[in-house]
Amino acid sequence: MYDTIIIGGGPAGYLAAERLGHEKKKVLLIEEQNLGGTCLNRGCVPTKTLLNSAKQYVHAKEAEKFGVMVQGLSYDWAVIQNWKTEVVTKLRTGIEGQMKRFGVEVINGRGEIICPPSGDPSGDKPARVLSVSGNGTAEHEGKTILICTGSVPALPPIPGTKDNPLVVDSTALLAIGTVPQRLAVIGGGVIGVEFAGLFSSLGSEVTVIEMMDEIVPFMDKEQAPLLRRAMKDVTFKLGCKVEKIEGAAVHYTTKDGKAEKQDADLVLMAVGRRPVLDTWGAKAAGIDTTPKGVAVDDRMRTNIPGIWAAGDVTGKSLLAHSAYRMGEVAVADILGGKSNRMRYNAIPWAVYGITEAAGVGITEQEAAAKGVAIIKASLPMKVSGRFVAENTFAGHGAVKVIADAANRRILGIHAVGAYSPEFIWGGAALIEQEFRIDEVKQLIFPHPTVSELIRDAVWGLE
Ligand SMILES: Cc1cc2nc3c(=O)[nH]c(=O)nc-3n(C[C@H](O)[C@H](O)[C@H](O)COP(=O)(O)OP(=O)(O)OC[C@H]3O[C@@H](n4cnc5c(N)ncnc54)[C@H](O)[C@@H]3O)c2cc1C
Repeated sequence: MYDTIIIGGGPAGYLAAERLGHEKKKVLLIEEQNLGGTCLNRGCVPTKTLLNSAKQYVHAKEAEKFGVMVQGLSYDWAVIQNWKTEVVTKLRTGIEGQMKRFGVEVINGRGEIICPPSGDPSGDKPARVLSVSGNGTAEHEGKTILICTGSVPALPPIPGTKDNPLVVDSTALLAIGTVPQRLAVIGGGVIGVEFAGLFSSLGSEVTVIEMMDEIVPFMDKEQAPLLRRAMKDVTFKLGCKVEKIEGAAVHYTTKDGKAEKQDADLVLMAVGRRPVLDTWGAKAAGIDTTPKGVAVDDRMRTNIPGIWAAGDVTGKSLLAHSAYRMGEVAVADILGGKSNRMRYNAIPWAVYGITEAAGVGITEQEAAAKGVAIIKASLPMKVSGRFVAENTFAGHGAVKVIADAANRRILGIHAVGAYSPEFIWGGAALIEQEFRIDEVKQLIFPHPTVSELIRDAVWGLE
């Protein structure tokens, strides 16, 4: 009998398996596609690999400005795609190695709960889980179960979308054989914006059609326009509602109620993701779900004793690093730990591309909505020595810090500009550890770095 059976081998599942294996627990991990899940196989890693090639191309085009002459510059999409496959394969082999190292048994197949556990940690009445794989069907017993089945692209019921080969989701676009001449992106969230940046850098004419008034709606309202303007080759149609798609022509209604059409060669549907709730026997196990995901408490417990859920399937925060942490919190609770609780107040987010963005904590607008009086300071990237030395886009980005006016705690850090995804964890630490302005002023940041703009902005808070 297994101590824990994990269904789904994405970031939440494989990291939880690793942590449990480290504690010498007997673990079975059932994954129906590839270890690494969405993140490694069709999300974070392949997108960033392709974006890196696009970035190299753009930088080479601008190299002359930095005194480096490049002649006969071009790119080869097939080679870029091969590199992506190489990176993904290498990292997947790494995860497979980790599973072996920590003694985790892996089945490549679909896992489904037939009967939930009694919730008794002795394992007197264990859970029964079916695995369906190329090797046939098998039944397994486990004292506890962890559900990590993730999410898949959501396809809204827009007329002309279903069975239209010219309308693709992010998974299909990642594997595309040629760079489309004209790409229409429906949805200006993180995924839509990253793909827009990728293909516009490679020469596609890209139009992003977004229903809200600004891209990446959770971004600070002063910062999102900076990111949008930095993507100068992309056309953004904001406040526009898509009505139907004909071939690859997107019909939409503008803010003023005008009917317009965007012609394209390919349409990316990037309007969000939905949790995978239908593949693993949620009903049979009696698990509470909503359309957003599996209902869990702050220890990632479901309503059924002995069954936990972590990652995108909970709908709480659809990010790989959130999935890692949720997996860890679930493991701590499975092992009987008391102190681990999932907190969502200091989860950093990032948008990758030629110009990057990242943030953590609340925005000025969220503070206002909560009635929290704040003080704020913003500094343009062009005052950062490193940023100016290395970027041709100097002037577009900024770092913004907001703090609670009453108790002087740091509440939010938001950045548009190169390296921001790399240094935003520092902001998360400041918020998580409830640092106050005067404490941050005493920290020493390395110079010259872009990150020191956080310190400079904090000095500007009054
Ligand atoms: C294009 C794109 C780019 C992204 N970029 C980023 C990024 O830069 N940074 C970031 O933090 N996040 C990013 N994300 C989000 C990130 O990929 C997810 O948040 C993360 O993968 C969630 O991890 P998870 O373990 O919860 O689920 P998943 O990674 O979705 O893994 C779930 C796994 O469960 C398996 N499964 C489902 N049902 C069953 C079953 N019944 N039996 C067995 N296996 C099953 C699936 O095959 C899948 O492998 C991106 C997503 C996309 C689509």
